[in-house]
Order: sequence, then C-alpha cells, then structure tokens
Amino acid sequence: MMVKKSNGGWRGQPGTRHRPEHRALYNTKAWTTLRKQILSRDDYRCQWPGCGSLLIGRHLAPNAPIVHHKLDHKGDWQLFTDPANLMAVCKACHDRAAQEASHRGFIAGHDEDGRSIDPGHPWAK
Ligand SMILES: [Zn+2]
Repeated sequence: MMVKKSNGGWRGQPGTRHRPEHRALYNTKAWTTLRKQILSRDDYRCQWPGCGSLLIGRHLAPNAPIVHHKLDHKGDWQLFTDPANLMAVCKACHDRAAQEASHRGFIAGHDEDGRSIDPGHPWAK
C-alpha cells in the first residue's frame, strides 16, 4: 500500500518525556527506511533460530516480514531505531512466540510491528 499518512506535522525525533503515541513512531519516514535496512541486513530471512523463512509474504501472511524489537522501546526513540535491537522475523514465528510467551505467563503485548510490552519477555534478554 502506498497510502501517504499525515502525522500532524511533527518531524524528527519525538520527545520521550511525554511518552509519545507508539503507533506514531511506526509512521515515521525514519522507521520505514530503517525497517527496509534491517530486512536487507538480515537477507529477508527470519532470524528466529531454526526458521530462516524467506520473508516475502504480504501483510498478515505467515511469511510476512516483521521487524521485531528485542527490547521494548517503550517509545524511546534511541531504542526504537537501534539496529542492534532489531531483528527480522516471519509472522509465523512472531505469533508463535507471542503465544508461547503468553502461555508462560508473559504479557501477550505485541502489535503488528512486533513490539513487546513485557520486559520479562524472552526476546527482551
Ligand atoms: Zn520464522
């Protein structure tokens, strides 16, 4: 989809003091660019151990690419855009992990971009 979204005009780094709307972070040009960089860095393959699926799926397909934050960025721009904190995974792995995590008592808090809201989540280690 090539829909252009208006974010109300702010540009650059959102302030972290006032805890910005997380979703707004994903609408930034910086994220769109970075996301592509991570996917290309990871060869469009799922980095989940033992998976390695080619991430060529469309939105919501099992092999759709998701760029996951290992550590919850909590709206922190630095963490949000740190390449070391990002990994490409397929939606199947992502959903499975989120599900397993919730079975283990972790908070199943992920949006479609793979943001974990639980610092105790296995991926946050
Ligand atoms: Zn995978």
